[in-house]
Amino acid sequence: MRIAMISEHASPLATLGGVDAGGQNVHVAALSTALARRGHQVRVYTRRDDPDLPPRVGFADGVDVVHLDAGPPAPVSKDLLLPFIPDLAAGARADWERFRPDLVHSHFWMSGVAALTAADDWAVANAPMPVVHTFHALGVVKRRHQGALDTSPPEREWLEPDVGRRADGIVATCSDEAFELRNLGVDRRSITVIPCGVDLDHFTPDGPADPRRARYRVLSVGRLVPRKGVGTVIEAVAALAQQGVDLELIVVGGGAEADDRTDPELERLRGIAERSGAAARIELRGRLPQAELPTLYRSADLVLCTPWYEPFGIVPLEAMACGVPVVASSVGGLIDSVVDGRTGRHVPPRDVEAIASVVQSLLDDETERDRLGANGRRRMLSRYSWDRVAADTERCYRSVVARVRGAGAGVARAAAEPDDGATTIRRSEARR
Ligand code: UDP
Repeated sequence: MRIAMISEHASPLATLGGVDAGGQNVHVAALSTALARRGHQVRVYTRRDDPDLPPRVGFADGVDVVHLDAGPPAPVSKDLLLPFIPDLAAGARADWERFRPDLVHSHFWMSGVAALTAADDWAVANAPMPVVHTFHALGVVKRRHQGALDTSPPEREWLEPDVGRRADGIVATCSDEAFELRNLGVDRRSITVIPCGVDLDHFTPDGPADPRRARYRVLSVGRLVPRKGVGTVIEAVAALAQQGVDLELIVVGGGAEADDRTDPELERLRGIAERSGAAARIELRGRLPQAELPTLYRSADLVLCTPWYEPFGIVPLEAMACGVPVVASSVGGLIDSVVDGRTGRHVPPRDVEAIASVVQSLLDDETERDRLGANGRRRMLSRYSWDRVAADTERCYRSVVARVRGAGAGVARAAAEPDDGATTIRRSEARR
């Protein structure tokens, strides 16, 4: 098949660990590559955020990244990108004249808007274009947890559910997301749950490990945004250090350099560490390339992932693939991926005492850590390889394409929807 991926803010080529570059970039890159290994041709459409980027870059065998002009050729926060989505849609639509995809798979709600806009336009002169969509995050969940701190544009409130209702197929990455989508009025029959995967050849238990300075080491990896709950992890580690536990915490992610003083979250965390009285036990390493992460995971007794909410969470998969037990908040994707008592332990989010107590009990029990770590690796091997994720995604694509071809997508989409045309935003409307 020829597959058009649209990932407006998350390019497979981006450096990971910054505010807007994390799991979605990894997902789009790895899924596209794994689909290409299965013989498909993939084109990933993303926004040009640098004037020097070539129009098209070969990313892997069978995978090209196409940079579309949509907004300034400079980094722009994803919450400010909506006005540029019509240009992104038009750019993708124009390229399809040459690429002629069989299907489009959009990632994140604004890419869904672009995909449906381009597909509707394509259908006027051509056959219907099937659209599969993956949300990666839902505005309704973000608002629930972040309230006034949520800087998403107000249009997300109606455009996002509209994407869910109008796309021909939805790939949800976990069961919690599927429940949320049902509540937004998305037809159960259009939803397929397929998790994100992990690179099992890169993230392995055997290999070099970063040297430690304390008896125990716990690790946090991820984009540094408040909802990741790293502040709670720092407080829990400080509490244990004050009780005399000889442990250290390494935090990976955030500003480009560890000594970057311009990253507000890194500064906030530095402040929490200093006030906790355990700053000497806490090392903020800044953003690191994926190539360096296995060495770090292997050096840890435990990986702590305690976000307030988590649409999926690839970091726990990476930890489990390296054979390290995960202490995870029982939220979102972590409910499916980390099995309480088998590959790690669940804790309530934002609960310093609960996290400290579970960490303490696991640090005290090496046999239990070994058991959880070995189970984690086995779980990743059996269910979370990108090859398996790509095979399941391909099955979903084929059934959507067959359904759309059978019904005529334009007709099917129009019939499933009240006639408000909300997703096909017009340039004038979007620029308001
Ligand atoms: N990551 C990285 N370097 C960093 C921080 C994060 O390579 O400094 C990677 C991490 O290994 C994982 C991804 O970014 O593959 C984060 O994905 P996850 O789904 O855990 O979180 P998200 O960013 O989607 O919220």
